[in-house]
Amino acid sequence: MNRNKREKEYYSIDVGDSTFMVLKRYQNLRPIGSGAQGIVCSAYDHNLERNVAIKKLSRPFQNQTHAKRAYRELVLMKCVNHKNIIGLLNVFTPQKTLEEFQDVYLVMELMDANLCQVIQMELDHERLSYLLYQMLCGIKHLHAAGIIHRDLKPSNIVVKSDCTLKILDFGLARTAATGLLMTPYVVTRYYRAPEVILGMGYQANVDVWSVGCIMAEMVRGSVLFPGTDHIDQWNKVIEQLGTPSQEFLMKLNQSVRTYVENRPRHAGYSFEKLFPDVLFPADSEHNKLKASQARDLLSKMLVIDASKRISVDEALQHPYINVWYDLTEVEAPPPVITDKQLDEREHTVEEWKELIYKEVLDWEERTKNGVIRGQPASIGAAVSSSPTAHQQRRPSTSTPPTPTHSDGSLEPAGATGPVGCCR
Ligand code: AMP
Repeated sequence: MNRNKREKEYYSIDVGDSTFMVLKRYQNLRPIGSGAQGIVCSAYDHNLERNVAIKKLSRPFQNQTHAKRAYRELVLMKCVNHKNIIGLLNVFTPQKTLEEFQDVYLVMELMDANLCQVIQMELDHERLSYLLYQMLCGIKHLHAAGIIHRDLKPSNIVVKSDCTLKILDFGLARTAATGLLMTPYVVTRYYRAPEVILGMGYQANVDVWSVGCIMAEMVRGSVLFPGTDHIDQWNKVIEQLGTPSQEFLMKLNQSVRTYVENRPRHAGYSFEKLFPDVLFPADSEHNKLKASQARDLLSKMLVIDASKRISVDEALQHPYINVWYDLTEVEAPPPVITDKQLDEREHTVEEWKELIYKEVLDWEERTKNGVIRGQPASIGAAVSSSPTAHQQRRPSTSTPPTPTHSDGSLEPAGATGPVGCCR
């Protein structure tokens, strides 16, 4: 495309401390969030005639950490297509050449709030279990593609007022170091599993721990294990759940084991004490049953020893969750990740810059003729996220809760929760 034409397509606008240089089709930009990578705005897309979210990645190749994360996110977002994972609608850079290349803009489906905001609300069992079901469906889909997240947290999960939920990111690369003996740096660790904190090997159910922590926070209204640093994180876990068995300690490497064995021993508390009845809506027989199911699920997810912790599939089959079970959501065909070296890549800044730039050009090329993933460009994710008839029976701001059993029968709501599940 010639330089003049390209320049005419973009305009610049200040949002907060940042300047966004975006395609003219995106208007009415408003900041809605910020994360480690930069600012996120809502905008109106005149081409798609809908609101979208735009995330600016400023010089994403500036160092190894930023570059790897941006490249990984871009490659994975382009492949993954599931209603519980955020969908990519567009990718662009206003710069015209590799030499000038600075910023990447990711255009995504717009959601209403992140989970941090929902945690403050009193959720009824129906909304709570539906949000958890969707988290587990999204995680199962990532696992099916060989992506184990390891860093799920409320700020990276977004929801809509109709109670639909999407995971925003793809977590830690396989090669990311995380252990107890690492220098602390500012990052939220509250939801990281013991095997991540202790730098052990891990399996897919590492993500079930994070779901357990998030569920616990939704029930309690406060962070379950609010460690002040990476060492205190472990203290908070054992204070509440108890020092793990010798069998578990034997799985640790020598230096970590010595540290863990030298901590004061804790007996921990029962799940009835950790999550007493008053935390749950339990005003009817139905809700009492649901409260005991919720506590049972928590007790199976928050298990320090991963070999004794419930799996994602088992969690999806748990009575508290399986009322929502839908094969098309749980068993959606996994995406194929073409870059097999995605997590192992090590590059110089200049190489990262070129790799990321190529990914942006590849998107432009693939969407140029209006076709991507076998669907019209920029509508694929939009179409797949529009509610199906089945979804419309789900909790929402306007529909009274009517959980659907896996056998298709309906049960009375029995719950008088908040009007909507999200702010
Ligand atoms: P991130 O930079 O991806 O960590 O996002 C930072 C924050 O921006 C999130 O915690 C959300 O509050 C918000 N956010 C990001 N993407 C979206 C989106 N697609 N829809 C709504 N809010 C979003």
